[in-house]
Amino acid sequence: MDLSIDDFQMSIGNDYPELRDALRKLCAGFPDKYWRDLDKEEAYPDAFVKAMSEGGYLSSLIPEEYGGLGLPFRAAQVTLQTVHEEGCNAGACIAQMYTMGTVLKHGNEDQKQRYLPKIATGELRLQAFGVTEPGAGSETLKLKTRAVRHGNKYLVNGQKIWTSRVAHSDLMLLLARTTPLDEIKHRKHGLSVFLLDIKKGLKNGTIEIKPIDIMTNHLTYEVFFNDAEIPVEDLIGEEGEGFSYILSSMNAERTLAGGLIIGAGNWLMKKAVEYANERVVFGKPIAKNQGIQFPIANAYAELDAADLMCRRAAAMLDAGIPCGYEVNASKHLAAEFAWNAADVCMQTYGGFGVAREFDVERIWREVRHFRTAPISTNLILAYIGQHKLGMPKSY
Ligand SMILES: Cc1cc2nc3c(=O)[nH]c(=O)nc-3n(C[C@H](O)[C@H](O)[C@H](O)COP(=O)(O)OP(=O)(O)OC[C@H]3O[C@@H](n4cnc5c(N)ncnc54)[C@H](O)[C@@H]3O)c2cc1C
Repeated sequence: MDLSIDDFQMSIGNDYPELRDALRKLCAGFPDKYWRDLDKEEAYPDAFVKAMSEGGYLSSLIPEEYGGLGLPFRAAQVTLQTVHEEGCNAGACIAQMYTMGTVLKHGNEDQKQRYLPKIATGELRLQAFGVTEPGAGSETLKLKTRAVRHGNKYLVNGQKIWTSRVAHSDLMLLLARTTPLDEIKHRKHGLSVFLLDIKKGLKNGTIEIKPIDIMTNHLTYEVFFNDAEIPVEDLIGEEGEGFSYILSSMNAERTLAGGLIIGAGNWLMKKAVEYANERVVFGKPIAKNQGIQFPIANAYAELDAADLMCRRAAAMLDAGIPCGYEVNASKHLAAEFAWNAADVCMQTYGGFGVAREFDVERIWREVRHFRTAPISTNLILAYIGQHKLGMPKSY
């Protein structure tokens, strides 16, 4: 399907105005103090996730036949962007929005009927994504957590790390090894994807979790599996093909992450401009100084360029056009430029930049995280260097 220039131009500017307005109203009920307190207490944003679920926003990408809104990726991107522009945090929402894509794309009809309608209403939370392991890191193909079939169930043993929101989710999308590394015929085979019932595992002690103390309120954990059971009905797609299923959902994850990060960058720009115009030092607003004004103007223009790339990635994804380069470049530019925006905002605020009551330091911490997760800068650059530019592989 060709993407016409008109289609693309339509998406420039304030697209989905009703969606943006409705989200702004919802976000007004969750002011800065709500997020500041959660950050201090390292608590899950229960009320916010509930409001987003009830508004149907977490089901935007689930087709109508399974109870969702069946909207394009661009609408989901706008949703996450708007939430962050309003100073809220959609960290818990983004996972629910994209992880279900693996079930939708590769699950069978029975799995879609059993899970998607409940995920759409928020009755079931699918917000945990278990891929990263301490020993494998970015080298996903080396992961060791084993799922071994015994009759009509798999038994899982091993460990994951950085599994965010596992304590607040009902289900985990788990990538585990079903064929030992030394028995696989192709390096990309031997891993499988499952839907794992976390609550059951935590209750019967076959799953243990340990929070990781980090600089942001990301609620991320180490997870230990000791004969955790998964019924064979919850294997997604073909055994051994899980890596390609996870890869295929990463375009969605990066496209959505791009929108979310741009939203945070826009929040920082708004704060920087407001503060620079108000704060008077040496008898004039600090914004009059080019040393303050120009870095803000530069960061704004950078974010605007990243926003265009994010829109392009979403438009191509919606049109079904291969867009590996665009989704990677959009997430990369968003993360780099939002990080610059965060630093510029922090500098504009002077000493108040680090005072918790202004929220700048909190968003600064959150934005830094996007250069590492969901994928780190170097791995994206390696993708662009190798797949777009035809340079040699570094790994
Ligand atoms: C707060 C947080 C939440 C997270 N949530 C989740 C989650 O919910 N689920 C999940 O599965 N994972 C999650 N992650 C994991 C995240 O995806 C990884 O941290 C990230 O992909 C980097 O992997 P790593 O930490 O193992 O770094 P490593 O792989 O150890 O790499 C360390 C550094 O070396 C660089 N590097 C490695 N190899 C190369 C190379 N060949 N060329 C150049 N540079 C290289 C990396 O880019 C990185 O900068 C989360 C991480 C964080 C910090």
